Amino acid sequence: MPRVKAIAKVRPAPGVDIIDVEEPQVRPGTVKLRVERASVCGTDLHIYNWDAWSSGRIKPPRVIGHEFCGTITEIGDGVTDRRVGDFVASESHIVCGTCRLCRLGLGHLCENTQILGVDVDGGFAPYAVIPAMNARPTSSVVPRTVASMQDAIGNAVHTVLAGPVEGQTFLITGLGPIGLFAVAICKTLGARKVYATEVSEYRIELAKRLGVDTVINPLQEDAHKMLSDCEPGGVDATLEMSGHPGSLELGIEHTRPGGRVSLLGLYSDRLRFMDMNKVIFKGLELQGIVGRKIWQTWDQMDELFTKRGLDLTAVVTHEMPFTEVEQAMQILKKGEAGKIVLSFE
Ligand SMILES: [Zn+2]
Ligand SMILES: [Zn+2]
Repeated sequence: MPRVKAIAKVRPAPGVDIIDVEEPQVRPGTVKLRVERASVCGTDLHIYNWDAWSSGRIKPPRVIGHEFCGTITEIGDGVTDRRVGDFVASESHIVCGTCRLCRLGLGHLCENTQILGVDVDGGFAPYAVIPAMNARPTSSVVPRTVASMQDAIGNAVHTVLAGPVEGQTFLITGLGPIGLFAVAICKTLGARKVYATEVSEYRIELAKRLGVDTVINPLQEDAHKMLSDCEPGGVDATLEMSGHPGSLELGIEHTRPGGRVSLLGLYSDRLRFMDMNKVIFKGLELQGIVGRKIWQTWDQMDELFTKRGLDLTAVVTHEMPFTEVEQAMQILKKGEAGKIVLSFE
């Protein structure tokens, strides 16, 4: 059996290694792809750091990586809707299709979800074998670097489209990659105004290239005062993407009565002392957003790229061969990057 290089967690300790693995073999219901690009996610950094979440969940050795794209080279028995030569990108959540929630059309909440590169081997390797369903056909108009990030872009699409967009005003709290994607998606879909909060000057500059109207740096400015001055009646929607309790508070305060607060950022601890009575009296809609809708979000994303001209190339700040993954992790740790894309060609 041919052997290939892959990026893997081999020991229950911080770090990742490039190791020799057997080239994965296609199985019934799966496709094999020649991985071309893969993008590094915050989750990969958690795995690299071997934090409480990843050490409790991952059983080494595990090939990591869940955001990737490539061309199908083989299809398994029983696969009828994918072909050799199709260009596809990964949906990282493998859902069962048979549980109560899957049957309700709520596959993003599947009780039996397994995650690529976490629970099963992922795509930081020249070849990956994944369920055919998880290989999402991608238009050739999408640049490969951007195609590789669609799992993450889908989080932003899901969040932005959880309510009306055209003509609406938004507050996006946190401009990590998903917040940056959300800025561009809101602008592409005709949002009237997009405000954002962020503390990193590097990310603020990226957001400006994506068309954000106003960015507030809460370390240097009074965010409450600025929002009260600019939008006295409150914004129509807040997209909370930072996992920072202060940002949630800001959103509850500055979203107009009857507006929505969509929550994607994860909080590192339980929140206390939130003014929930304000949520009630303002009639706010608080929404938890997880993953991507199976498969509606992917259809919406395709439409954004092929018909609405969504351009996210500015978010890709680094491209490097996969052998430089260590350097990629160090850059991400410093927060001086949008998305880092690895090449496996
Ligand atoms: Zn990811
Ligand atoms: Zn299910």
